[in-house]
Amino acid sequence: MTPITWPDGATTAALGMGTWHMGERGADRAAEASALRLGLDLGLSVIDTAEMYGDGGAEEVVAEAIAGRRDDVFLVSKAYPQNAGRASLPLACERSLKRLGTDRLDLYLLHWRGGIPLQETVEAMERLVRAGKIKRWGVSNLDVEDLEDLGPAIRHCATNQVLWNLEARGVEFDLLPFCAARNMPVMAYSPLGQGGALLRHAALREVAARIGASTAQVALAFVLRRPGVLAIPKATDPAHLRDNVSARKLRLEPGDLAALEHAFPAPRRKRPLAMI
Ligand code: NAP
Repeated sequence: MTPITWPDGATTAALGMGTWHMGERGADRAAEASALRLGLDLGLSVIDTAEMYGDGGAEEVVAEAIAGRRDDVFLVSKAYPQNAGRASLPLACERSLKRLGTDRLDLYLLHWRGGIPLQETVEAMERLVRAGKIKRWGVSNLDVEDLEDLGPAIRHCATNQVLWNLEARGVEFDLLPFCAARNMPVMAYSPLGQGGALLRHAALREVAARIGASTAQVALAFVLRRPGVLAIPKATDPAHLRDNVSARKLRLEPGDLAALEHAFPAPRRKRPLAMI
């Protein structure tokens, strides 16, 4: 697993943690915060959240997890597209900072492209950087043409966070090479296919059994083998979390990759960007 080097030279591990569906039920919050703290203890410093998750509840869970150890964390949050305007973005950012119990984000993303012009969002992001509220900004769910619409500002765009897993490989055709050519790290979301059918797929099970790993580890190793890709699986179950952490050491051999390639063929033509 190659560490991630952000465009400004900062580095993080290539395995982080997601938080979608955290903070939705009060009764689960303590377990969710505890899972994130365990992840931090195990070296997963990148925490990905969003104002959308649990209507701000996930950010509150993150606040509980990072209390007293903010400097150990590379904190990522996202703004709704309708909150990404000149006046609305600083307000959305303040609300996120308050819920997160911090004075700064390491990375702030436009969650997906909406009706507000990208240039307006970029200017608002740059103002937040100058104000010290965010260290860097990026985007999510933008396809190649959308990224091109950023114009020269693409140089300052720290990441594009997109759906990428064995079942959703469309980005490999053009988006991943486009980002790699610009040294822009890509954040792979739902790398486990949301813990659903992907992890029960016969081909994945076969490869996993052969190498003595779990299907989740193989699915993660598949995306982590690519330099410049940061995977952010979400795990509340501590056993899941430990399982995912062990994927850092897993190396897929050519025979394993060939079997995966056969079951989950790479795209041969452009496909519209898939999103969840
Ligand atoms: P995911 O990480 O692919 O899968 C999460 C599910 O997998 C959970 O149900 C989890 O269960 C289970 N799981 C985790 N580790 C496992 C393991 N080792 N073995 C078996 N099951 C395991 O899906 P995701 O949450 O959709 O995506 C990850 C993160 O990406 C999100 O949390 C969010 O931060 C981000 N995201 C971003 C966008 C976007 O539009 N930018 C969209 C979707 C997601 P437990 O929780 O019970 O452990």
